[in-house]
Amino acid sequence: MHIIRTIPALRQHVQSLRTQGDTIGFVPTMGALHEGHISLVKQARNAAKRVVVSIFVNPAQFAPHEDFDAYPRQEAADLAKLEAVGVDVVYLPAREVMYPQSFDISFKTGAIGQQLEGVARPHFFDGVALVVTKLFMQVQPDIAVFGEKDFQQLHVIRKLVSALDIPVQVLGGEIIREENGLAMSSRNAYLSEAERTIAASLYATLQTIVMRLRAGENITDTLAWGTQHLQETGFARVDYLELRDSHTLAPTHNPDGARLLVAAYLGKVRLLDNVAV
Ligand code: AMP
Repeated sequence: MHIIRTIPALRQHVQSLRTQGDTIGFVPTMGALHEGHISLVKQARNAAKRVVVSIFVNPAQFAPHEDFDAYPRQEAADLAKLEAVGVDVVYLPAREVMYPQSFDISFKTGAIGQQLEGVARPHFFDGVALVVTKLFMQVQPDIAVFGEKDFQQLHVIRKLVSALDIPVQVLGGEIIREENGLAMSSRNAYLSEAERTIAASLYATLQTIVMRLRAGENITDTLAWGTQHLQETGFARVDYLELRDSHTLAPTHNPDGARLLVAAYLGKVRLLDNVAV
């Protein structure tokens, strides 16, 4: 496994793989890797000859009050996990490599970036779009895999790739969960033992809502029940619990082909989840 920290070294290595005729699969991450990340790596390995994984905690997608400094960083453990799963290249750019002092370009993702996650985190998708574009330019992969865990992010990336004519095929990877149903996330490390137990009810609530919607129950009433149920279970605040079209992410009143998305605070931890209806 090659550990690469600079753009010229990355370009040279990827170029040599391409000269051999190898295709390149890419999985961008912020590290603190768990089984969710590893499943994306396996998916990339099935879709391409070589796999590049990046680890970069992207300051451009954090607001000043968010957890950039506290975000878990565990490079040695991450490298061991990636080596075990047969990754070819790990790209670990320093902050100055991605954003030198002279860096002064920003992206605007438009309406899609202002809803759902974008309401609580108005600059989040602009920062994600910027870093993913830079990573795509640096790695120049044939395919890239993003998790459905961040369903709106996957949608934004597909739009970005289409809008900027980036020659990358974007694949979505299914959500990997703990045994109790909690969607794996690097930020789950912030949860106390007691909170972890409560956190499991987020997925359970989504499943109950899906069952009710499939049984033909009223959407508004069912979502209102869901919000109240989460609050009664111990979630401090539900940022959104919404039914959206899976392909356009537009609000929908048709459960067929819809996606149910939620963001809710448990203590200070903001949890995201989503399920297909
Ligand atoms: P992150 O390191 O949180 O930026 O995530 C890197 C990639 O892993 C993103 O494409 C996420 O959507 C994906 N991911 C995070 N958690 C999971 C999960 N539980 N299952 C599948 N993919 C995930």
